[in-house]
Amino acid sequence: MLSVALMACTNAAKQPKMEDECLYSPQQTQFAFWSNAAEQMEVLIYGEVDSYETVPLTKGANDFWTATVKGDLAGKYYTVRSFQNGEWGLESPGIFAKAVSINGQKAAIIDMKATDPENWDKDVRPAMTDPTDIVVYETHLRDFTMSPNSGVEHKGKFLGLTEEAPLNYLKELGITHLQILPMFDYGSIDETALDKNRYNWGYDPVNYNVPEGGYSTDPADPACRIREAKQMIQALHANGIRVVMDVVYNHTYDVMGCALGRVVPQYFYRLNEDGSYANGSGCGNETASDHEMMRRFMVESVCYWAREYHIDGFRFDLMGIHDQETMRQIRAALDEIDPTILTYGEGWAAMAPAYPYEDLAMKQWTYKMPRVGAFSDDIRNALIGSPFDHEPGFASGNPAGVKDVMRGLIACPEWSGEPMQHVSYITCHDNYCLRDRIEVSAKGVNEETRLRMNKLAQTAVLVSQGMSFLYGGEELYRTKRGIDNSYQSPDSINIIPWENKSEYYDLFEYYKQMIAIRRAHKGFRLGSAEAVKEHVEFLDADNDQVIIYRIKDLEGIDTAKSLLVILNGSDKTVTCDLPKMEGECVVLAADGYAQAWGLELGPYGQVDVAPYSATILAEYPIGNQEE
Ligand code: CA
Repeated sequence: MLSVALMACTNAAKQPKMEDECLYSPQQTQFAFWSNAAEQMEVLIYGEVDSYETVPLTKGANDFWTATVKGDLAGKYYTVRSFQNGEWGLESPGIFAKAVSINGQKAAIIDMKATDPENWDKDVRPAMTDPTDIVVYETHLRDFTMSPNSGVEHKGKFLGLTEEAPLNYLKELGITHLQILPMFDYGSIDETALDKNRYNWGYDPVNYNVPEGGYSTDPADPACRIREAKQMIQALHANGIRVVMDVVYNHTYDVMGCALGRVVPQYFYRLNEDGSYANGSGCGNETASDHEMMRRFMVESVCYWAREYHIDGFRFDLMGIHDQETMRQIRAALDEIDPTILTYGEGWAAMAPAYPYEDLAMKQWTYKMPRVGAFSDDIRNALIGSPFDHEPGFASGNPAGVKDVMRGLIACPEWSGEPMQHVSYITCHDNYCLRDRIEVSAKGVNEETRLRMNKLAQTAVLVSQGMSFLYGGEELYRTKRGIDNSYQSPDSINIIPWENKSEYYDLFEYYKQMIAIRRAHKGFRLGSAEAVKEHVEFLDADNDQVIIYRIKDLEGIDTAKSLLVILNGSDKTVTCDLPKMEGECVVLAADGYAQAWGLELGPYGQVDVAPYSATILAEYPIGNQEE
């Protein structure tokens, strides 16, 4: 196995890189495009909009077609096209364009160095030791900044996230990673008509290696979007926040409208036996990571974002469409840049992909892809119910999920392998947001009870041994007014309601304190399956709506000797027997309130846990309690 892998590596090293389609210098520009099917290829260089000159490309080793054009081409644009089966194909900007014209139809020739903001060379990733230490906050650039109450000047733009109000907010909340919905160039927004105020999540890739123009202040200037995306990342880093990019290599906006489909028709996609495009994405096509050059494209693309834009993590959309080997190679390539760069994704597909199930990066096989995580629909469905029906979950009064909540608390080792590979979450941009989910599933209860359920469900996420993931705005009791797929809903549905911070301050404060409790206690993030096995136990609650989760023998690991979490998913106060504690017991959370340094001194012997609430107790060594 090893010698084969090394040989493959050596061969790959000799080949031109896919990312070097256009190498600019003031003296000359070199072009190199891969195609194993073209009979001829040419690049069309555009100056003014309608004029171009054609440069034929010459086929060289490994199916790369190359040309060198003398002179300074900065400010010009190009497309590439290939001749096969007796005709010239459609023009495209190439599959690895790094700068593009408005709406991404042509690639732009620019000096990438000139896109670096001031002090970019001094930008560093904020410190991170263990992936289970992190708390991811998912948001969309428009959701986060478009509200008139956002305090943001550059609304809906990369630059909005360089401003004080949103940065201070994220710091106050205490999250470590910001996951941004697609920020590469996508197709559903017309960049020439941004004043039309359209909204889209952006899961329709056009140019994978260029930031989306709609998020820049001038999409007609190819350098602008690149510089402003870097400014955003730089500002987040300066405020101690890492940036996770949502990547969508599993399908393209369409086939023949996209470079992957135009440069070499069919090669980059999986086909059905009848020759039609397979559709594991549910979007009309699925890419073929198992084809060598698609795999190399994905590996080079994530590495490009990590190097050029200093991106700190990647969330793979419908990762179950990709094959496991590709995910392992992505992990290995990122490790060479920085092993703290995160990789996780959706371990499922929308429909069955046209590839053997046992070789796909499905959740079930997560343990075969070390340090690649998968979203846990196990803990999600158990806590709040499945998106496929309107049933309640453990946190909203349904005892059916109790065992799965317990599995989720210990990060589902049977499929995750290690805890960091289990993304603990209940909501994300897909499906109902938490408020709406509880409203449709917990019938006949008042808002006070629904808020209790909300806090209880999120508590389980934040004390799980997996990696914590929160959907942005849940802490402000956001609602999407019952819309469970808001991918193109107006801003009025999608924006985060900043004004709720005063009305629901209690909820915001609870989230903030629970994040602080997680970050203060290593016991909730032991980091390895072995340590979880050694330190975690579930005590008998004698009630299928109550979980007693204990993390013990923490000397040398945590400031606490032990931690005890009681989750009461019933509508009644329950009295639970406590294990014997030799140290000093402090209540960190109870009855919908939480405080990282403790609410009060704790009970011994027994404790009452209020309906739909969590009680968290820390046992500190006597006389050695922190703060
Ligand atoms: Ca675009």
